Amino acid sequence: AIRSGDLDAQEYFDFYRKRAAADPYNSYVWVADETPAIDTSKPFAGVPIAIKDLFCTEGIPSQAGSKILEDYRPPYSATSVKKLTDDAGGTLLGKTNQDEFAMGSSTENSAYGPTLNPWDTTRVPGGSSGGSAAVVAGATAPWSIGTDTGGSIRQPAALTGIVGLKPTYGAISRYGMIAFASSLDQAGTFTRDVTDTAMLLSAMVGQDPCDQTSLGLPEPVRIPTADSLKGIRLGVPEELSGEGIEEGVLKAFNETLELAKSLGATVETTHLPHAPHGLAAYYLIAPAECSSNLARYDGVRFGFRKQADSLLEMYNQTREAGFGAEVKRRIMLGTYALSSGYYDAYYGRAQKVRTLIAQDFKNAFDQFDFIVTPTAPGVAFELNSKTSDPLAMYLNDFCTVPMSLAGIPAISIPNGLSEGLPVGFQIAGPAFSENRILDAALALE
Ligand code: GLN
Repeated sequence: AIRSGDLDAQEYFDFYRKRAAADPYNSYVWVADETPAIDTSKPFAGVPIAIKDLFCTEGIPSQAGSKILEDYRPPYSATSVKKLTDDAGGTLLGKTNQDEFAMGSSTENSAYGPTLNPWDTTRVPGGSSGGSAAVVAGATAPWSIGTDTGGSIRQPAALTGIVGLKPTYGAISRYGMIAFASSLDQAGTFTRDVTDTAMLLSAMVGQDPCDQTSLGLPEPVRIPTADSLKGIRLGVPEELSGEGIEEGVLKAFNETLELAKSLGATVETTHLPHAPHGLAAYYLIAPAECSSNLARYDGVRFGFRKQADSLLEMYNQTREAGFGAEVKRRIMLGTYALSSGYYDAYYGRAQKVRTLIAQDFKNAFDQFDFIVTPTAPGVAFELNSKTSDPLAMYLNDFCTVPMSLAGIPAISIPNGLSEGLPVGFQIAGPAFSENRILDAALALE
């Protein structure tokens, strides 16, 4: 809340607007060029909110990091954005850089250049919502929102030392979010602390008649108050906390487990037997859905077009020049996996694995309040170090993809440094357990 004697709402927004305009990390693809009149009767009056480029914002470029949507200005705003601005009174500060169509883990797949990690500008901020993470970490915005399909909020939050929450699938409307993989895409928050996460989340959740898969949350988001973990049972899945995780990340993870014990939690090893197959299932399901969702970019309806002699040539040349390499790779993989004769072997099988992973979590939550893991297997990596090796890039999602496939909420909170770079601690709970997750996260913050 803004108190008398502090900056007024206008000045507060203006302060961030100037910082954002001078952002040195290429975190923004668009910044508000003036400070609008602010309605001080609303709860978020004056609060600048940075929004991932793939959220549609009326009359303002919404390019999803892609050349094919160059200067596309939608005729409407996403429901989540409207709730934050029209209902809660926040003000759109800027649109943030991202991997093209949210495909990536480093923000290097943006058609608008990579975003740099504010902790070390030779390194990536993670992705795909790297711009939204960098604006909060670099203090050019107090709050931002992003999307998480397989880890795109939690992993960049971890790599930039901030808090990132992926809510339960359906908690926030997807209406007006430029789609990547519709059965996985979920909007969420980036903030500096857990209390702010609760505030920002509270304004975004809700069932929306424009999104048939939206549910909202069964109870309002509470501001968390917990200072202990008394009676809380934490399960550590062996499959996601051992092999493949950097030593420094594991060290920080174990220290946080000790902290949890000192706050009254019990910590036990458990198993999610199918979780290691999460990546393989995800990298079939997500590309399959993207190949369908991205069919609409044909040069006729949105943004960029290459003129050609025939309609078919125009489609081909537009898509050839408008999509980046990773997007093309996924469209090809997805189209292949969905082709007749291959569906059962690939997409159908991946969906079965998805069900088994969801069941693993269900079983685990019979015994534990939360499943905890390192958020990402390593710290922020050097720019260009993984761009030529898609599999190395995909491995970044090892600990975050299982929760996405199961549709359950998970938060990443900063838990120390390794090699001088931030590390994240992930807390996942059953569907709709956001309030309890926020309590646990606050206690460990
Ligand atoms: N890195 C994963 C991918 O490339 C996840 C992306 C996301 O969550 N949007 O698909």
